[in-house]
Amino acid sequence: MVDTIRKKVEALVRPEIQALKAYHVPDATGLIKLDAMENPYSWPEPMKREWFDALQQVALNRYPDPEARRLRERLRAALGIPLGMELVLGNGSDELIQIILMAVARPGAVVLAPTPTFVMYEMIATFTGMKFVGVPLAPDFSLDMPAMRKAIERHQPAVIFLAYPNNPTGNLFAREDIVRVIERTPGLVVLDEAYHAFAGQSFMDQLGKHDNLLVMRTLSKQGLAGLRLGVLAGPRPWLEEFNKVRLPYNIGVLTQASAEFALAHLALMEEQAGLIRAERERVFESLSALKDVRAWPSRTNFILFRVEKGDADRVFEGLCQRGVLIKNLNSAGGVLGNCLRVTVGTPEENNSFLKALEASL
Ligand SMILES: *Cc1c(COP(=O)(O)O)cnc(C)c1O
Repeated sequence: MVDTIRKKVEALVRPEIQALKAYHVPDATGLIKLDAMENPYSWPEPMKREWFDALQQVALNRYPDPEARRLRERLRAALGIPLGMELVLGNGSDELIQIILMAVARPGAVVLAPTPTFVMYEMIATFTGMKFVGVPLAPDFSLDMPAMRKAIERHQPAVIFLAYPNNPTGNLFAREDIVRVIERTPGLVVLDEAYHAFAGQSFMDQLGKHDNLLVMRTLSKQGLAGLRLGVLAGPRPWLEEFNKVRLPYNIGVLTQASAEFALAHLALMEEQAGLIRAERERVFESLSALKDVRAWPSRTNFILFRVEKGDADRVFEGLCQRGVLIKNLNSAGGVLGNCLRVTVGTPEENNSFLKALEASL
């Protein structure tokens, strides 16, 4: 039976899907978890009780508002979405990437992004039957503009994704380079501002000034990774089409109510982001002071660093043995050879990480 099942799987499932590895999430039980860009802070108890009260008003027996009208209005204000621009919500930005690509996936259509970058762009391009073209970043992690220009001319991408700031390198690309990409490409440019709370820069105010610019945000990096809520903003004609592809009830009642509640407490979210930004600078200084480590400045809530002795796998294992889980990027190779990525946690977590790292080097 198993054999005949395997034969049928091989005959029916698209070869490019069979060739993929499922997105791997390591087990963090018992470890200090600094691998996934999560916010380490939760809400104060009185606020949690207020949130439970809000959830009790929710009618679980009813379908959610398919347009999430109230939540969208709150997001408009909270995110500073320019007047006249539309927004579509997704089950995380991951779903928004999927929605965009499903809408444009003609046979042969290309998705382009500078690499290394967020892996979901390439994975979802593959899911939707599109071709992914990665353009290597310059050695200083800036956009390699001659290479970008050539790739745009040659591949005429339907969509270009630019993570702003970029994951896993942590830097912001130069604004003038991004504007040139937007002006040079015949396709869509999606600015993925997942780390906006830590970056201090945005293209949100540029929406409507270019006919092919969209901006994506998420609540994941601001303490709500478990909620799954992403926001895509841009001109109405684009978003009307994407809205047709979106499954009608993709944002559940609990997510809508919880996100509305969270957005009524923006000051707390900003306070937590401020703590993380301050800790990021402290951890960066500490990493930079280590002899065998090269750390890159970050505009996100994580720091990329290289183990200069060239044994990042061993250092990563040493950290795990000492109870700290970060992300090992060494197997990606190229510019990420011997690189590790640590998410900024609480001061105590960061101290544990720094101590474990020194012991592991
Ligand atoms: C973490 C991250 C996201 C977040 O995805 P969600 O599905 O909203 O959790 C999106 N883009 C980039 C570049 C990221 O690093």
